[in-house]
Amino acid sequence: MTPLDALTARARDDLVRVSHPRMPWLEPRTGPDGQAALDVLIVGGGQSGLATAMGLLRATVPNILVVDRAARGAEGPWLSYARMRTLRSPKDYTGPDLDLPSLGYQSWHEARYGAEHWQALELIAREDWAAYLLWVRDAAGIPVQNGAVVSDIAPAADGLLAVTVNGVVRHARKVVLATGQDGCGQWWMPPFASALPPERRAHTADPIDFAALRGRRVAVLGAGASAMDNAAMALEAGAEVTVFCRRAEPQLVQPYRWLTFAGFLRHLSDLPDEWRWRFMRRVLGLREGFPQPTYDRCARHPGFRLLAGAGITGARMGVDGIELDTAAGPHRADFLICGTGVEMDFAFRPELARCARNIATWADRYQPPEAEADDRLGRFPYLGPDYALLPRVVGETEWMRNLHLFGIASTMSFGPSGSSINAMTTAVPKLVAGLTRGLFSADVERHWQDFQAYDVKQARL
Ligand SMILES: Cc1cc2nc3c(=O)[nH]c(=O)nc-3n(C[C@H](O)[C@H](O)[C@H](O)COP(=O)(O)OP(=O)(O)OC[C@H]3O[C@@H](n4cnc5c(N)ncnc54)[C@H](O)[C@@H]3O)c2cc1C
Repeated sequence: MTPLDALTARARDDLVRVSHPRMPWLEPRTGPDGQAALDVLIVGGGQSGLATAMGLLRATVPNILVVDRAARGAEGPWLSYARMRTLRSPKDYTGPDLDLPSLGYQSWHEARYGAEHWQALELIAREDWAAYLLWVRDAAGIPVQNGAVVSDIAPAADGLLAVTVNGVVRHARKVVLATGQDGCGQWWMPPFASALPPERRAHTADPIDFAALRGRRVAVLGAGASAMDNAAMALEAGAEVTVFCRRAEPQLVQPYRWLTFAGFLRHLSDLPDEWRWRFMRRVLGLREGFPQPTYDRCARHPGFRLLAGAGITGARMGVDGIELDTAAGPHRADFLICGTGVEMDFAFRPELARCARNIATWADRYQPPEAEADDRLGRFPYLGPDYALLPRVVGETEWMRNLHLFGIASTMSFGPSGSSINAMTTAVPKLVAGLTRGLFSADVERHWQDFQAYDVKQARL
């Protein structure tokens, strides 16, 4: 038996040992099509979807399914558009294990490479992280259907949801949307960039043929972590790269490091709206700064330039490639990469099409002081305490209360939660508790009837 096989056996044994209480408590439901309905369908088999599924299994909610459009092992960004060599989070942050040591990354790494290797390790290679997530999924027996696209979610009879997966309807009592960074919108670039010919520009989340950039002039819009990762990839391919940073100084402070303490992670969501808004406006306003190794990876190339106070304000095709207007003067490039993040707009998501117009946002529910106004953040959904979408107009599309969102869009309401490894061990249990609370309270009458009928004697007289 290999050390990894032994660890898998240990993790399975640990899961059994912590499975109290084990009594089944959910009654099977049937959909209007006569087929068995799921208790929870999770859209997205990245780390958030997997951890949520494991949390549900541990809460004795076994009638679940995770679906992901990606092929097995290709979920999330790790083997596609994540272009850093290692994770940015420290190696000892726990997450998808939900506090079970045998399922933690350290245990997997030691089983795979040995304890000394772990001691010497600085940061986790992203390929290892992807392999680890796949191992967690298999070790914990999480049911995942890959190559499965969710294209529609509609209300159905008996309070169920009808979820269209690869054109086939599955019914579920609840749906978790663990659909990643763009789960409530789309990757965004400024209109002047998207108006360029597609072969001349890309978003950092797009597939990019870096080899084709050899000997080319590449401009990178933005100096966040992903922008710098893409700059490094282009430099390593032999391009000359100029990174344009709008700020007077690039973002060097990493706000997520400051807030990674139990009080903040556990309880930001318990604070009144004004405090949630104040903190998260600052966190999300600072964006994701790049760490030292990312900068060093770029700076070792003579063709690298980082221009601060040099936002790009316009672009068009000219005789000598792309003509860029920047606060530092005109610039010529052959290719433009935009590290410009995500635009929050529910209308871009087919699975939200039936309720998008009625999803309550922060702008609907909270009016910040003028000095703290922020239209971008006002478009984030204002979630219920169980991460549920809430209707802007109460009484309409009420079924969305069974749609629970766990992604970057959850962060205005909960602080780091979905899309953040540092928060998984606090946020996933909160989500799982919200799901089980909803399932339990919806069945309360049945539980009462069951209790009345309960006649199992534990002693004989
Ligand atoms: C480049 C990059 C680097 C990062 N590095 C770090 C880091 O070092 N540390 C850290 O804490 N965080 C990091 N993050 C943030 C966060 O941890 C990741 O975004 C992480 O992938 C979030 O996990 P997730 O499960 O929420 O979403 P994802 O991993 O993105 O998974 C979402 C899944 O949903 C699927 N999906 C979406 N829509 C549908 C649909 N309609 N039907 C079926 N399937 C669907 C997708 O295929 C995808 O697999 C990074 C993010 C990026 C983009």
